[in-house]
Amino acid sequence: MKKIVNPLLNWYIQNQRFLPWRKDKNPYHIWVSEIMLQQTRIEAVIDYYYRFMKELPTIESLANCSQDKLLKLWEGLGYYNRARNLQKAAQMILEKYNGQFPKSYEKILALPGIGEYTASAIGSICFSLKEATVDGNVLRVYMRVNNCHDDITNLKVKKQVREKLISIMPEDSGSFNQGLMELGETICIPNGIPKCDICPIQNYCKAFSKKTYLELPVKSIKKEKAEEFYTILLFLYQNKVAICRRNESGLLHNLWQFFSLPSSMTLLQVKEYLNTNHIEYQQLKKSIHYVHIFTHKKWNMNSYIIFLKNPNQIQSVTWVTLEELEEIYALPGAFQPFKKVIIEEMINDDEA
Ligand code: SF4
Repeated sequence: MKKIVNPLLNWYIQNQRFLPWRKDKNPYHIWVSEIMLQQTRIEAVIDYYYRFMKELPTIESLANCSQDKLLKLWEGLGYYNRARNLQKAAQMILEKYNGQFPKSYEKILALPGIGEYTASAIGSICFSLKEATVDGNVLRVYMRVNNCHDDITNLKVKKQVREKLISIMPEDSGSFNQGLMELGETICIPNGIPKCDICPIQNYCKAFSKKTYLELPVKSIKKEKAEEFYTILLFLYQNKVAICRRNESGLLHNLWQFFSLPSSMTLLQVKEYLNTNHIEYQQLKKSIHYVHIFTHKKWNMNSYIIFLKNPNQIQSVTWVTLEELEEIYALPGAFQPFKKVIIEEMINDDEA
């Protein structure tokens, strides 16, 4: 493994992609980008990053921002606890470290929402700490270079990889870590044939010489995701739509959603529900069916559009215009397809 260090560093220094958070080694920039990049592709993160930095350019502005504004800036990125933890950590940095980002691995790791990977990324890139960032890309490159068939979902294996990488870590640990990750993303790719012909470490790669790269890395099969069923009632009245806040705890807590019932209902069952609850409507029609996949579960959602006669007949909702929904209220990705349906519905209604 030691032999890959120099070729990898040279390749990275010459070929690294331009990314806005790489302009400087400001830990705030690296930290926010790393949190955004968890579970999200680089291309999708760039616009969010610019918008976030324009609105919240400093740790202090993040610490003092209202939660609704923060969640709105995060809308579409998903995994909203990441945003909440960013803010908690910013508040802690203000209180405990006088607004200065801590420089030791242990102190960075102790901040809310920061795990080993992120602490290593910030520590190595911003402060040249000899810590290894072990993500899926790094594991893939490592297993291929070593022709290692250990299961990468095993935490013990991950720990061994981390220790091995720390043992060969050069002074410029930030470039080494980023080089490994970038190699995994662009050359030693996860799906399809890796681009070994242009790989800077091909000479040292055992999977290349043994032609085993497509078998690697080995991953045990994941458990089936738990499935939940919902009926989404899209209540419309004049130019407004009804939304409500989700519970204060649990998945997507405190975010906004459309009116939801916890089972899959037919058109007839929805009619019965409306009659039983004395909700009068002008029109009721079936709308889209959408399945949203989370890390551990999937939501299977039927939806219905309902034009009401009287908006006061449903309780505990907030009536908002589309502009307000767009600008003020954070709607998780699971509900975005329904927002699109409503926009189309309202445009058709205007044209009719
Ligand atoms: S030679 Fe091929 S398999 Fe080996 S690290 Fe490079 S791209 Fe991956």
